[in-house]
Amino acid sequence: MTALLEVNNLSTGYGKAEVIPGLSLEVKAGSIVTVIGPNGAGKTTLLNAIMGLQPSKGAVTLGGRDISATPVEERLVAGLCLVAEKRELFGQMSVADNMVLGGYSRRKVRDDSRERDLEEAYRQFPRLLERRHQVANTLSGGERQMLAIARALMSRPKLLMLDEPSLGLAPLIVKEVLEKVSQLRDTGVSILIVEQNARAALQIADYGYVLESGTVAMEGPAAELAGDRHIIETYLGAR
Ligand code: ATP
Repeated sequence: MTALLEVNNLSTGYGKAEVIPGLSLEVKAGSIVTVIGPNGAGKTTLLNAIMGLQPSKGAVTLGGRDISATPVEERLVAGLCLVAEKRELFGQMSVADNMVLGGYSRRKVRDDSRERDLEEAYRQFPRLLERRHQVANTLSGGERQMLAIARALMSRPKLLMLDEPSLGLAPLIVKEVLEKVSQLRDTGVSILIVEQNARAALQIADYGYVLESGTVAMEGPAAELAGDRHIIETYLGAR
């Protein structure tokens, strides 16, 4: 498998405070890669830098194209999409309107193809179809997360980046959301998922990176990380 996303020696921070001193990672096409790590390790900062929302040094390439100097709008068109931790839905608007707006980032979109994308998204997320007239603010936490992901898919991303999709959700709902994410990989979308819930993330990921203080402390196939003594003691705890 070739790498869809390659991040080489990326460094970033806030003012003089360096959060990530130089990080490299890759996401192979058709895979789920997770970045796990404690509070404040720099996971959100990393995703923002890859998306172009946060200035950084180093190289970011997507599908072989160097996008390091590309503004965020063009990174979106190039196939990157970030579902931020706050999920940033249009709260007063319906599920359907939120979904349609997700498709507007695509260039030269034809109305019939948008219609098809909407149908496909509803097929993947039938609960959203049932609730398409409901105002986004009144959805449950899990439904809101599903809507944020479904809306992101409307921009037809090559790489979907998810910032802590499990945040604030009950364990059963976390399982449901992550199972959906796993099914998306099976439809060909590549996924980079940042999680504090290491156990859940490692269960669906193919490969993982452990971020500690802005640095990759460990990396490897997700199944290997899940069985590693340091990871078990530090991030997985007792069952
Ligand atoms: P969490 O899981 O708690 O969200 P994280 O791994 O995503 O943590 P970041 O949110 O990327 O970590 O934060 C990394 C470091 O950068 C922290 O020390 C944080 O205080 C700092 N930081 C984050 N955002 C800003 C900002 N806008 N201005 C200054 N410092 C910031």
